[in-house]
Amino acid sequence: MAVFLGVESQVASGTEVEIGCPVCPRRQQARLEERRDRFYVLFVPVLTVRNTYARCGGCGSTYMARAAAEKLATMPPEELDAALVPMGSMLLARWLVLLALLACWLPVVGLLVGLWVWRRYRRLTPGLAAISWLAMALGAVFTIIFVVIMIHPWE
Ligand SMILES: [Zn+2]
Repeated sequence: MAVFLGVESQVASGTEVEIGCPVCPRRQQARLEERRDRFYVLFVPVLTVRNTYARCGGCGSTYMARAAAEKLATMPPEELDAALVPMGSMLLARWLVLLALLACWLPVVGLLVGLWVWRRYRRLTPGLAAISWLAMALGAVFTIIFVVIMIHPWE
């Protein structure tokens, strides 16, 4: 895997919780899945993102959770339901955060796009917060490199 950016994923599935699935007429058992993505830049692990999903046992809908599986299992029902985000609204957020990560090498533009997605999506899930933070940080690094190259009096 000779790439500049790489990712290694692991999925663990376990605990069952009861959720108020908006699709189903009554509360349903849902299985929690914990996914761990480790991001590499030039083979160096820079970031580990943990995401928890809840899959409804009634209709199969998947929800993304704002908290870790062990925390979700101990939450009261209202709090648990509020912590679940439908995957549909996650899709746009994910695309924009990915776009920001891909654009991070563009001086100034990469930094601004990274800052924008970070401000917009950091509260959605810890994973999006971490990746958008990385996009913003890399955007800042490339912008600094660009500025240094531009103002440096090369002889
Ligand atoms: Zn359901």
